Amino acid sequence: MPNYESKNHRGFHNDRRQHGAGNRSQSTRNYRSKPRRRETPQVQVEIGQRFPLTIKRMGINGEGIGYYKRMAVFIPGALTGEEVVAEVTSVATRYLRAKVHRIRQTSPHRVDPRDSYADQVGGFELEHLDYPEQLKFKKDVVAQSLERYQPAGYKHYDLRPTLGMDDPYGYRNKAQFQVRRNAAGQVEAGLYAERSHDLVDLPTCSVQMPVTMHVMRAVVAMLQDLDMPIYDEEQGSGIVKTLVVRAAAHTDDVQLVFITNSTKLPHKHELLTRIAAELPEVTSVMQNINPGKTSLVWGDETQHLAGAEAITEKLDGLAFKLSARAFLQLNPYQMEILYAEAKKALDLQPGETVVDAYSGIGTIGLSLASVAEEVRGMDVIPEAVADANENAAANGITNAHYELGTAEDLLPKWVMAGFHPDAIVVDPPRTGLDGTLIETILAVRPPKLVYISCNPSTLAKDLVELAHDYRVDYIQSVDMMPQTARCEAVVKLSRRQ
Ligand code: SAH
Repeated sequence: MPNYESKNHRGFHNDRRQHGAGNRSQSTRNYRSKPRRRETPQVQVEIGQRFPLTIKRMGINGEGIGYYKRMAVFIPGALTGEEVVAEVTSVATRYLRAKVHRIRQTSPHRVDPRDSYADQVGGFELEHLDYPEQLKFKKDVVAQSLERYQPAGYKHYDLRPTLGMDDPYGYRNKAQFQVRRNAAGQVEAGLYAERSHDLVDLPTCSVQMPVTMHVMRAVVAMLQDLDMPIYDEEQGSGIVKTLVVRAAAHTDDVQLVFITNSTKLPHKHELLTRIAAELPEVTSVMQNINPGKTSLVWGDETQHLAGAEAITEKLDGLAFKLSARAFLQLNPYQMEILYAEAKKALDLQPGETVVDAYSGIGTIGLSLASVAEEVRGMDVIPEAVADANENAAANGITNAHYELGTAEDLLPKWVMAGFHPDAIVVDPPRTGLDGTLIETILAVRPPKLVYISCNPSTLAKDLVELAHDYRVDYIQSVDMMPQTARCEAVVKLSRRQ
């Protein structure tokens, strides 16, 4: 069974959809156009060297880009229009990486980040940029990706302004923090600094829903008081590895998960008693067991400790049960906007059938079930598929069914068995669509296709092939992750006649 999330990627915005069977059969794919290669400039540069640099634009990871003797310089934390003194941190054949030594001319759009550690851990790439400019940046990332892969007619695509939040803070429904005991013996919980295993303690975090941080810090204090054995990566000793707190935005449910190195949980009784007394907002306490040194955060076994086994989130009048490892969008407020956009783009008519590919716990498909004749969905995570089917039943939906398997295997099977969907909505992980799935879509030719993408690069690549048979009606970006460089987009495609 694939594990749900990997901690290899730093920062926390990344836990969207890294998992899954996303091995694309690239070799079978023929791109009409490849990114153009520039000649390698011959520049002698050394690490530590400093030079003035004007930032021309921002790259897809939110870093500033300038040119030193025609060589691209990527410089995190620098904004378009700024003049900085850059200090080289690494030298590659075709580009340089640098850090800001000093800002000589500051952008009028620069703001003070709310989180003091914003430049240390991943997930806060844009916290120093004002929000209207963040939204422009996200639309521009889509434009840059299209420019790079050049799908047919891309110059005429209707790129709509990014839909943002009124208050772009306090939105994250899940905090997943590593725990450790520092040299002074204090228990800390936070994220790893980029490209390292140094934990940065996060006493506060502006993008988290306040309840998630309140519970997190209270539990950290309990672990300290109870002198709980905290996992030590080097020694392989200790018990508590990670704390996960997930809150529902539209119910009062909050789940706390201890991810541990073994099935043991010392001081369990005292711990649970204190949680019940001091954190009445916590409605579910679980333990996930993930023994040994591994790059994955979650283990296969989950045990129930107290309260309910799952939490419930509400969306669009439907209730969704969430087990500990089930995927849910991290921004429950923008999730409603995103799904409303998907629904609008699909424009389902009574009698039409739809496939919800990469369905997770069925959020998209089930919200379409009242209009559709039939909904079929699939996902590779068994718990997610079980949740999706349970969610259908619990909401009295009888025309939606979810199966375990990959989109690339199941869609061709369904078609062979005579099911020809009128519409397909795909919501793949960051790796984008599998080559086989694209071939199947192009063979089945459903009149309506909606592509929800969390990675403009793979979206642009996939559009190269899809645009042969489909017209891109518009691309609507939605800001699911304010303060980060992440970009989500809903693409409406219609079959060419
Ligand atoms: N549509 C859902 C989930 C999107 S996340 C939502 O909006 O909440 C992407 C999902 O794709 C994950 O649940 C992941 O398990 C699943 N997945 C990854 N590779 C897959 C594949 N090859 N086929 C089907 N599902 C896959």
